[in-house]
Amino acid sequence: MMKPSYIRVVIDRAIHRQLDYSVPETLAERVDVGSRVRVPFRDKSALATVVATLEQSNVGGIRPIEAIVGEGPVLSEPLLELAKWMSAYYCCPIETVMRSLLPQVIRKAEIGWKKQLFLQPARKIDNEEFENLRKRAPRQAELLEAIVRLNSPIRAAELLRKTSLDNQTLRALAKRGLVELREEAVERDPHAGEQFVATSKLELNAEQAAALKQIADALASPENPRPILVHGVTGSGKTEIYLQAIRAALDRGRSAIVLVPEISLTPQTVERFKGRFAEARDAVAVLHSHLSGGERHDEWHKIHSGRARIVIGARSAVFAPLKNLALIIVDEEHETTYKQEEAPRYHARDVAVVRAKIEKCTVVLGSATPSLESYHNATTGKYELATLTQRVDERQMPLMRIVDLRQVRRKEKTMSILSEKLLQAIADRLEKREQTILFLNRRGFSTSLLCSNCGEARDCPNCSVALTFHRHAARLSCHLCGHTAAVPKKCPACGQDALIYAGFGTEKVESTVAQIFPKAIVRRMDADSMTRKDAYRETLRNFRVGKIDILVGTQMIAKGLHFPNVTLVGIINADLALHLPDFRAGERTFQLLTQVAGRAGRGERTGEVFVQTYTPFSPSVQFARQHDFAGYFQQELEFRERCDFPPFKHAILITVRSAHEGRAKLSAETLVRRLKEALGSEFILGDATPAPLQKLQGQFRFHILLRGGAIMRLSRLVRETLDKLPFPEDVAVAVDVDPYQLL
Ligand SMILES: [Zn+2]
Ligand SMILES: [Zn+2]
Repeated sequence: MMKPSYIRVVIDRAIHRQLDYSVPETLAERVDVGSRVRVPFRDKSALATVVATLEQSNVGGIRPIEAIVGEGPVLSEPLLELAKWMSAYYCCPIETVMRSLLPQVIRKAEIGWKKQLFLQPARKIDNEEFENLRKRAPRQAELLEAIVRLNSPIRAAELLRKTSLDNQTLRALAKRGLVELREEAVERDPHAGEQFVATSKLELNAEQAAALKQIADALASPENPRPILVHGVTGSGKTEIYLQAIRAALDRGRSAIVLVPEISLTPQTVERFKGRFAEARDAVAVLHSHLSGGERHDEWHKIHSGRARIVIGARSAVFAPLKNLALIIVDEEHETTYKQEEAPRYHARDVAVVRAKIEKCTVVLGSATPSLESYHNATTGKYELATLTQRVDERQMPLMRIVDLRQVRRKEKTMSILSEKLLQAIADRLEKREQTILFLNRRGFSTSLLCSNCGEARDCPNCSVALTFHRHAARLSCHLCGHTAAVPKKCPACGQDALIYAGFGTEKVESTVAQIFPKAIVRRMDADSMTRKDAYRETLRNFRVGKIDILVGTQMIAKGLHFPNVTLVGIINADLALHLPDFRAGERTFQLLTQVAGRAGRGERTGEVFVQTYTPFSPSVQFARQHDFAGYFQQELEFRERCDFPPFKHAILITVRSAHEGRAKLSAETLVRRLKEALGSEFILGDATPAPLQKLQGQFRFHILLRGGAIMRLSRLVRETLDKLPFPEDVAVAVDVDPYQLL
């Protein structure tokens, strides 16, 4: 390597450009592309990432870097290339991308290794010396004896605990030159103390074996392999295919990343991977949002140093610094949690596909309900397709029964939460000692508090939504900003004692079911009931061993859980997602119904699913009922094509917001005018319109939706237009490429 005289860096601040610095002779040996450095910036210093080394720089008044941070380069060339692509594609400054690419503990290098004191005898000690010590300092002698008896160095803390002696005694021994103390780095292992039982591979059925072969062939091909979409019904054994594919990658001496939605990164999942690769304790690293800074530091280094060769993690694990990457698996690829909702607003599945292209490795996308985009890519030949139509062990798909709530309402006059049919089914399961899951994607007790006299609803003062009543907490709360308020006795608007609770959430479902079935053990699983640490793990464990008869919950229980004794799933209201102002509403409903239904009948007995809905004939409900993905895909695709939505066009959503409604509106309108000038007729540009969620956290919001085929060009034109436009200080603009949140 040539010693660089100059470097180009991206500093950790939003200045939207790269800067050159010179490298003092003494530091030149240790600096390279991907290194972290401290540089003078204005009259302070700043941390920065080296993006290029230069032999010369034509920038005037160039200043030298101050220091190198950390041990070596933290970013590989392929990851830097990925960062540049993300910056261009997601219309986002590269320094913001760097923030996602490198965990804070690595960027700032503030947390280091955990150091512990180890000790061993300093030299050989003869009997006479021992005798002398025993007379003068018996406790020191006792400790020394314990140390001498050990053959290997031991942690000081551990020895002191075992011998019940104190630190002072140890220090005195060290001072006499009889023991040697040494500081050593030890790893903070989030799974320390847990035992992982080694498992061996399971027998694959014909469909699984064919899918595995497709992946193995891709791994063997030296050229750029195409992404592979594994479309397998719920319970078709996709995870076993992943495990064997990873083994194939390891056998080639290479490494693999597995992305799973954060919510699916359960102890059960981690155990499955750690168990399969238990032959090497360090082989599997786990990255998720609950790691402490120290644990994250250690896991990151375990990966970066090459000791861990499998990384399993949520969204940001797509940036895991593995070398010699062979395989990236994106499980549940349709999941919207892969999309980051703050800048950089990237989608981990799409980033995985691009990283795979850069590193020439295989990417596998798996789902029971693939996104329209991925399935379209598979049908047009851009991706390969592997299909699993059978559940493992020839288990049956669950029976889907649609309950038309319009008829129920006509017959029963009042709207009850659970239809008669569903209640009967629950009673039947209780009798047979089988388990039930009830799903409702809305938490709280009542979803609004209305005045029956004047019609006023209690809205959040910061957001344009009604406050939800939580009975357990006895408060009203806003699910968007967290604002809470006391429950008024009388209507604050008209003073009448006429308040009524309307709508219902999981809390009310739980209490209703408990009332109707007083002997049943009912538990609720949602963001409100799972605040205590370990509550999630504990509830799942109790459900698994049969200590819970009925589990009520939000999407927290919709995904990936596997309980053989669950034979009934009730979807309380299938319409919740369907009526959102979002072109993906139908797709989400289909996915949700299929995924939730997939929780039923994972054991010996066939499962049964009740779907309660006011729109029984909507395509999402009907196709989900028939387990007909292809039929659903076809009709949804036609709709998307007709309306110029993805996958036929890319979309960019710009949100302009301000605490001042007028300024937000004016800025949005000005931006639309400028965009109109900048964009050619190949792009579709919408008007500035109030967002469906017009007020959020005290900010008024306006949307501009753009669509086009050439996304890189569109992204660049948007960036250039924004850079030229001075916005008032209290107006914020957010650009979301391939948006998933249109509210
Ligand atoms: Zn009133
Ligand atoms: Zn609010």
